[in-house]
Amino acid sequence: MTSELVVGIDLGTTNSSIAVIRRGLPEVLDGGDDGLVPSCVGLDSEGRVVVGSPARNQAVLFPDRTVLSIKRKMGSDEVVRLGETDYTPERISSYILGELVSRARTTLRRDISRAIITVPAYFNDAQRKATRKAGELAGLKVERILNEPTAASLAYESDSSEASKILVYDLGGGTFDVSVVSIEQGVVEVLATAGNNHLGGDDFDALIVERLNLHLDEETKDDSHRSDRTVQARLRHAAEAAKKKLSTAPFAVIEEDNLKGSGRTPLNLSYELSRSAFEDDIQELLQGSLDEVTRSLNDAQVRAGDLGRVLLVGGSTRMPLVSRLLQERLGMAPHGEVDPDRCVALGAAIQAGMEAGEEVGSVLVDITPYTFGIRTRGDLDGLLSFHHYAPIIPRNSKLPVTKSDVFFSITPDQASVQVEVFQGEDPDTRNNTRIGGFTFDGLNENENAYEDGIVVSYSLNVDGILDISARERGTGKQISGRIEDALAARPDDNALELDLGDDPDQAAADAAGQLLERVKAVLEKAPAEDLAEIKRLAKALEGAVQRGDDEKADQVAGELSEILFFIE
Ligand code: AMP
Repeated sequence: MTSELVVGIDLGTTNSSIAVIRRGLPEVLDGGDDGLVPSCVGLDSEGRVVVGSPARNQAVLFPDRTVLSIKRKMGSDEVVRLGETDYTPERISSYILGELVSRARTTLRRDISRAIITVPAYFNDAQRKATRKAGELAGLKVERILNEPTAASLAYESDSSEASKILVYDLGGGTFDVSVVSIEQGVVEVLATAGNNHLGGDDFDALIVERLNLHLDEETKDDSHRSDRTVQARLRHAAEAAKKKLSTAPFAVIEEDNLKGSGRTPLNLSYELSRSAFEDDIQELLQGSLDEVTRSLNDAQVRAGDLGRVLLVGGSTRMPLVSRLLQERLGMAPHGEVDPDRCVALGAAIQAGMEAGEEVGSVLVDITPYTFGIRTRGDLDGLLSFHHYAPIIPRNSKLPVTKSDVFFSITPDQASVQVEVFQGEDPDTRNNTRIGGFTFDGLNENENAYEDGIVVSYSLNVDGILDISARERGTGKQISGRIEDALAARPDDNALELDLGDDPDQAAADAAGQLLERVKAVLEKAPAEDLAEIKRLAKALEGAVQRGDDEKADQVAGELSEILFFIE
């Protein structure tokens, strides 16, 4: 029986990974690193084949004996030359599969001979056959070729029996795919796909590298660094690290000493990149991806409002701007809590487990059901307000999580700020729950500190402990605080004071009154993630009735009825 195990393999353009079902649960085999094997194959200085990180590390210095992104060539007749020998894309891919399987054999200490391998939904027959062939060359029996969005959906929804439509937004290192799928009782159908074969993390890295090159042009009054491969390799490496840092922090400092120049003055680089500047750079590329999202929805004839979920797949979806733009476009917060780099492999393992007739549990992750943020001055319904809510940790974030953002005092000579911590989803802090706060004083002793701002960082762990720190960047002055039970339901969570006003339109008020009675009846049993939305809509309905805005009241009442219908 020991050879029965079927592994799930995500054979990606940039990274690949392998997963299995162990003790009923899907698990990525990390093999001592973080579970991602760069999809790179090379020959080392002695002519031996190397796979994964060693190959990727030599890629820039020895491009003639390193192959990257072979997935793009799968199904074509093109061969790639490594040293003196030509290799087919299938052969190169088989080395990557071989590396993954060998790590699985070592970790599990058992023979592995059967696999499910994933491919993009748009792969044609030749590309699928080539993938199958690669598996066979690696000594595997390929049980099935599975679509990547199908695998991702299974990682999230394998145990849900309700039919639902899902949008899978997959932004990796070099490719972007979006798919609309329908899932019912673990059976997934891909309804439409769209995307851009040349959009991904590498493009974002390149934008940062260009900033760094421009900075060096300025500093050195010379551009010889641009043609120096070693310098460019180091810049690219540093750029990628900075990009990742910006996914959780508002600033990244890039320091590279001795970039070049033995003998003469060494070329050192020190550059601070802000998240907002980086987001300006990548905005246009991401807007392009949103057009593909719209196209896939149109092709699938699914309205955004009919989507059950939006799933984030691929390492580049960790950039917060991706979630923000998707939420704006689709009107719902996307899910990225199942590790976006590993969720395709996990889904492939789930499929393997289901086919073997095993009981397979869903991927377990601890997430925060609430958003945590801070009260600031900002725009609220087009007006400047002191009750503006700035989210820091978005809801559905996987725990533990640390995120930070930068804020500014209102006047240059302001000596103190209030750091007020809120839990909830409403843009107006008054509709959220205040869970703590403190005063940060003694600020702005240094003249420039005002412009540099204050970085506020939230760290939330699985036990609901929220650590908060605020640091004045200009002076390094810092204070911190802790809230012990940030995830607990608050006493006033279920309190909802509503007042329909003195003299509203009677018919509208009656209808709204009935609806609000139903709201009160379900508050106790509403799931945390619906609660905030229900309260927001109830408040909005109250406001509309008070103002006598029938149109708005009708619209809000419709939305509210829909949610209540599901909960009652
Ligand atoms: P994948 O092909 O899905 O493994 O995605 C790889 C891409 O994700 C690379 O371009 C990485 O630089 C990028 N990536 C990984 N982690 C992060 C992160 N925390 N923030 C932004 N990009 C990331």
